[in-house]
Amino acid sequence: MPTQPPKSSDLGIPVLLGIPFDAHSSYLRGPALAPPLIREALHCDASNSWTETGVHLGVPGTFADAGDLTLTEDLSAFEVIEKRVGELLDKGQRVVSLGGDHSITYPIVRAFGKRFPGLTIVHFDAHPDLYDEFEGNRYSHACPFARIMEEACAKRLIQLGIRTMNQHQREQAARFGVEVVEMRNLPAVERLNLNVPVYISFDVDVLDPAFAPGVSHREPGGMSVREAIAHLHAITDTIVGADLVEYNPRQDVSQLTATVCGKLLKEILGKMIAR
Ligand code: MN
Ligand code: MN
Repeated sequence: MPTQPPKSSDLGIPVLLGIPFDAHSSYLRGPALAPPLIREALHCDASNSWTETGVHLGVPGTFADAGDLTLTEDLSAFEVIEKRVGELLDKGQRVVSLGGDHSITYPIVRAFGKRFPGLTIVHFDAHPDLYDEFEGNRYSHACPFARIMEEACAKRLIQLGIRTMNQHQREQAARFGVEVVEMRNLPAVERLNLNVPVYISFDVDVLDPAFAPGVSHREPGGMSVREAIAHLHAITDTIVGADLVEYNPRQDVSQLTATVCGKLLKEILGKMIAR
């Protein structure tokens, strides 16, 4: 088992994987419709294909696309997700999953955790998603990080932008040693110099609904797009994978949130690609 984090140049290219699954959403359905719309926004001619950090994503072979999974709504979906993510990782590719609701991060990170000891998750979200169970569902999109930490799929979990903590979730965070940076305590760019393999889990509702209305749970008082990008850019270590979840096209206004997702995806890919 390697103790040093892998270098970007030793790892394969990022590969997109659409995960159209929203059966564990507690309030509204819709994120299952997101993957093709995020891709469309990524490739939209309204902008060029350079990232702010100077990476040209338009060069063929810079990243790949593994298409969308076909999933049922029962728990076998999680087995399919974990298996497919594991296959891509075993080919040396770095999976960037397009959700889907946040429940999918549990099977995704199970696959990562088995292959990247010492994995640290940087989790952007309005919500800590640490419920032991939510409305009787242990696999709810309100629970993935409780499952991940119980199974020790990740060594560290750093949450950014949280603004919905309750007593139960504070207890869960303490129980699992989660490093929570609440929205009111940002910025926290200095916390992101980690020297470990990093997995980014980005729930779009970390953004203020003024910037990203297309989410199921609009929580005012969130990050601007610029604050989110500043924290993404501040990650100095090798990013081995990522997910972008909870975009709900049914709640969107004039494709504003799709455009934001395309921009965030660009900057995440740019950070993953070695220069
Ligand atoms: Mn979430
Ligand atoms: Mn959320």
